[in-house]
Amino acid sequence: MAELFNQYRIGIIGGGQLGRMMVLAAKYMGYRATILDPTLDCPAVQVADEHIVGDYDDPKAIKHLTECSDVLTYEFENVDAAVLAPYEDRLPQGTKALIVAQDRINEKNFFEDLNIPIAPWAEIHCGGCLNANLTEIGYPCVLKTARGGYDGKGQVVLKSDEDKAAALELINDYDGTLVLEGWVPFVKEISVVISRNKRGACSIQPVAENIHKNNILHLTIAPARVAQNVQDEAKKLATQIVEGLDYAGTLAIEMFLKEDGSLVINEMAPRPHNSGHFSIEGTQNSQFDTHVRGIMNLAMPEVVANGQSVMLNLLGDELAQAQVRSIDEPTWHVHDYGKAEAKPGRKMGHLTIVTNDVEKTLEKLGEF
Ligand code: AMP
Repeated sequence: MAELFNQYRIGIIGGGQLGRMMVLAAKYMGYRATILDPTLDCPAVQVADEHIVGDYDDPKAIKHLTECSDVLTYEFENVDAAVLAPYEDRLPQGTKALIVAQDRINEKNFFEDLNIPIAPWAEIHCGGCLNANLTEIGYPCVLKTARGGYDGKGQVVLKSDEDKAAALELINDYDGTLVLEGWVPFVKEISVVISRNKRGACSIQPVAENIHKNNILHLTIAPARVAQNVQDEAKKLATQIVEGLDYAGTLAIEMFLKEDGSLVINEMAPRPHNSGHFSIEGTQNSQFDTHVRGIMNLAMPEVVANGQSVMLNLLGDELAQAQVRSIDEPTWHVHDYGKAEAKPGRKMGHLTIVTNDVEKTLEKLGEF
């Protein structure tokens, strides 16, 4: 007799909301989940079987997690690849995806090797270097730290010579290499969330259309309101990327859509992604289901949408407001990540509505 799935243990590095939603998917299938995270009562620990309190980069803590897990997975990309390298055979996502995603220079080289379209770019080490490359790339452009930036942090947009002072300040304050990127005049930002198993089979979520506020994802509409050929091309590029990494599990790719219908890749995240949260109710296999299926090397489903979805991120006090409103809104799926303190700008939860009238739903959400 084959072993029941409840005999398999998944070790998750990171205990945030992505880890929490991974556990919820893993648990209904029967798997056991252990979280490695330094914080007591973090979102994933509230729903997991076990918690190892420790740092993600602590080799001892990772070894301990490995000893109580059959398969390892990470829920964020800033884990030290060198610490995970000895356990590569138990890490279906692999360390290559970490090395590529942690550093914009590695990421750009990886995309270029695959002939994936990206914005013109240059490595920046100093002020002189910035001046030389500004001539080449031209305004507008954006300077980004190669490592450690997220949600627009560690970035300066340059529209004219007037913005050079802020760019020089970033170069001086940051201990490392930066990249200067040409500005992509996009009409829409979209993302593709794709999952793969080690046998090479993929599940791809409907392409998502993303609207940001203050550089943080605000709203996702899926399927994206873009032409079918754009959706097909976006999915093709995403498939090339997971194959190039020999990746298993869920990975997201953010892209810019230009007026002429062409796509430019912005960046990737080797994990489930905020822009894929709609899939929990909006499709028959969520990005967390297909993450678990991918890392456990199960067959991958063709993802079918349940309709159109609108997903709204709930930051700070917005979670409490949405919960109050949801008392009289039977179709609102309000997700609460279980964080104790609602700091301004902190991702506290999200709301998904599956609809057959996106415009009307957006109108209703207008007050958020
Ligand atoms: P990132 O941290 O690279 O995802 O950048 C955050 C946001 O800044 C993106 O979602 C875009 O809205 C914008 N952005 C970043 N880079 C570019 C670019 N090269 N061209 C146009 N918009 C950009």
